[in-house]
Parts: sequence; C-alpha cells; structure tokens
Amino acid sequence: MFKKVLIANRGEIALRVIRACRELGIETVAVYSEADRECLHVRFADDDVCIGPPPSRLSYLKIPGLIAAAEITGADAIHPGYGFLAESAEFAEACRNSNITFIGPTPEQIRLMGDKAAARRLAQELDVPVVPGSPGPVSDPDEAVGIARGLGFPIIIKAVAGGGGKGMRVATDGDSFTQAFQLARNEALAAFGNADVYLEKYLEHPRHIEIQIMGDQHGRVMHLCERDCSVQRRHQKLIEESPSPALDQQHRDAVGAAAVRAASHIGYVGAGTIEFLLDQDGCFHFMEMNTRIQVEHPVTEMVTNFDLVKEQIRVAAGERLSFTFHGNRLRGHAIECRVNAEDPARGFQPCPGTITAYHPPGGPGVRVDTHIYAGYTVPPYYDSLLAKVIVHGNSRREALARMSQALDSFIVEGVTTTIPFLRRVIHHPDFEAGRVDTKFLTRAPELFAAE
Ligand code: ADP
Repeated sequence: MFKKVLIANRGEIALRVIRACRELGIETVAVYSEADRECLHVRFADDDVCIGPPPSRLSYLKIPGLIAAAEITGADAIHPGYGFLAESAEFAEACRNSNITFIGPTPEQIRLMGDKAAARRLAQELDVPVVPGSPGPVSDPDEAVGIARGLGFPIIIKAVAGGGGKGMRVATDGDSFTQAFQLARNEALAAFGNADVYLEKYLEHPRHIEIQIMGDQHGRVMHLCERDCSVQRRHQKLIEESPSPALDQQHRDAVGAAAVRAASHIGYVGAGTIEFLLDQDGCFHFMEMNTRIQVEHPVTEMVTNFDLVKEQIRVAAGERLSFTFHGNRLRGHAIECRVNAEDPARGFQPCPGTITAYHPPGGPGVRVDTHIYAGYTVPPYYDSLLAKVIVHGNSRREALARMSQALDSFIVEGVTTTIPFLRRVIHHPDFEAGRVDTKFLTRAPELFAAE
C-alpha cells in the first residue's frame, strides 16, 4: 500500500480523498494555489505545498510543479480528484515516468476514452448501441451538412476532445448548421487545443443514465448500477439519484452488462463511468466514458455502501477489488443536490465572496460533502461548487422528504447560493413523480425566478 498520497486538487474532493487516505492509514499531501491558503484541505493534510498563483493554469494544471511537489514530500502516489488533470493522459504519463502511481487508469486508457469519436467506434465494435451519428470526426462543412441531412435534424455537434459540457452545439436545420459547425470547431480548438468534431442525432427528450464501473489490475471489472443525472442546465448536472426512477431490473442488467463489456475490453483499472442516453422508446445509447471519480459518486456509495475512493486507492496499489456486487442489491434510494455559489435569477452567474454564517443539515441519512466554513472566502478562480447534499432513504419518497428538510435547514449566508432554487426543483410535481428528462428545466422557467 502507498505511504503518502498527494492530492492534485482542491475543494470538497480534496477533503474526500484525505478522509479515504486517513481510513487506510496513508499520509496525505495537499497542494494549494496562493488563493487557497485558508482552505481546509491544507489544514487537514499531513503535509502541504504551495504550487503557484491563483489561476489554475499556473497552479492546479501545472504538471511539473505537481510532480516536483510529490518528489519533495516523498509522495508515492497522486490522486487527481475530478476536473483539473483527472483526465489528462499527459499527467498520468508524467507520474509514470517519475515512478509515482497515478490513482486512475493508464495513460493509454485515458487517451482512448478521451477521444470521444474513438470511444464511440469502440462501443459500436462491442455491440454497445450508440446515438446515430457520423462514423468519425468530420472537418469539411459540406460533408458535415450532408451527413447531418442524412441523419435528420436536430443534430448535436460535439468536440472529439470535449468535456464539461463545452464544445457542443445543437443545429435545428441545414441553414443554422454551417454556422454552428464552425462555432463548435472554434470553441473546441480554443478549449481543448483540438478542433475535431463529430455529429450525433440530437435526441429530443432523453434521460441521462450512467453506470459506475470499478476494475482492478487482476482482470476483474464490475458495475455498481446506475445514476440518473437527467436534471441538467445547459448540459450540466444539478441533481443526481440512484436508482433511476425510469429503469427496471431488466434494463439495469442489460445496460450494466454493456458497460462492463466496454470497460473489460480495454482492461479498465479504477473507477470510471459510462454515460448513456435513454430515449423515449426505452433504448440506450452509449455517449462517453469518464475515466475518473465523478462529482456524483456519493449517490452510488449511499445505495451500495461501498467507499469508491478507498477502492480507487486500493486497486491502484495492486489490490484485488474488495467486494463483489451483484447488480440487484441496491439498498434504498439516494439523491444528491449540488449547491453552488451562483445566482439562478441572473443566469447562474457565479457569486464569490465571504461566507458569514454556515450550518450544514444533518440527521439520519444525510451527508454533506463540502469544504466551506463560516469565514471562508469563495475565490473567483475556480468552479462555484460549495457543497453536495446527499440523502439516503429506504424509498424514494423518504429520500425526497429528507432532501427537503436538509435543504430547508442548510444555512449559508454571505454569498448567493442555489439552495432556494434546488428546493423549488425538488418540489416540482414532475421531479417528485420522477418524470424528468434533460430538458425538464427548460420547460419550467418559473423555477429560476427569485423568491
Ligand atoms: P460532456 O462530456 O461535455 O459532459 P456529454 O457527451 O457527456 O458531454 O453530454 C453532456 C450532456 O449533453 C448529456 O447529459 C445530454 O444532456 C446532452 N447530450 C449529449 N449528447 C446528446 C444527444 N446526442 N442528444 C441529446 N442530448 C445530448
């Protein structure tokens, strides 16, 4: 097992990894930018290193600085968390070259799945259904419009190297397509340094269903059922739950098996997520694989009782998967709400500032993953996630009641948060009935209004 793990991240996920390391008896190293001196991950880690100025490209994204920090502190492994360098094959490779274990899959696996067009092709080869689309990347606008017409509008244009909802454009007809195509290519080049895009038919009212995968270095891959992440704003997840209200056991088994087939084929090691869209006819379509721990992993932890972060660390150290999971043993129901420092009435504009009062919710079945505290100043440089409120109940109804009381008793003052908005969403009749798809919020503009 590792002696010391450096966490190449900040915020709640850095704290989450520190907790897992503590339980495993592993020492930790926090890294922080000059804007993050007062962060809790710095206080809770055994060792800490300042890695540069506030902008993430000068600190959390600087590979040489992170490797140097690990070498100076004697860390033998690096956990990348999510975001930042978590899906950087280059970073995983730099770790390998420095004899530091990257807690995650191999650089080759990250590279393969990071090319979304190649991942689609692989899924097709393995008889995992994909959304109808272009056979690969397309660069010629005339060829692209021809393919789009053949598939039928609307069409979504996606960056091959995309992620985080960036580099995607929807075109509703041939006239708007050419402009959208060019914009998507420009955006992709600016955001990912790669202009390549591919096309998919844009499904009108899909649900986003993803399967949690875990694999070890001994050839075992398993899945831990699904999360339903259909409550989204601009293709970004806001609320996630497990099990999905839309899935029966037969579907769960089928999609779980398809995900395991894809991950096993590449000998996947560590935690990963295979994302699917479920269309209105009940058909699944592979979308992409994320080769890291997800923001919403606690939802799966609550319904399976397994610690995914500890398991990531164990398998990276060469241990066998510590548990067997048969896809029909979810216990109860879990829901997560992402609380952000944003103003829903102003287009979710980020609201950095100092937190003047803080009291988290609690009680049976309530978990809050957060890094904030009274007196903490939310810096403007990073994402605006303040906390994840995760609830568990014996039934969806009980989980909903717990989420309702948890949001009601969550006090965060000094910055505008999305708590009132989340409260309105979970009381919406469609959400209460589990009747949502990725367009749900666009049909309910009243939810965005100020109280
Ligand atoms: P990213 O990696 O940037 O998050 P994804 O490919 O995972 O991008 O897609 C994010 C979201 O975009 C999905 O959850 C879904 O809401 C929407 N989306 C992506 N592809 C399609 C599609 N073909 N049809 C309809 N919605 C889509």
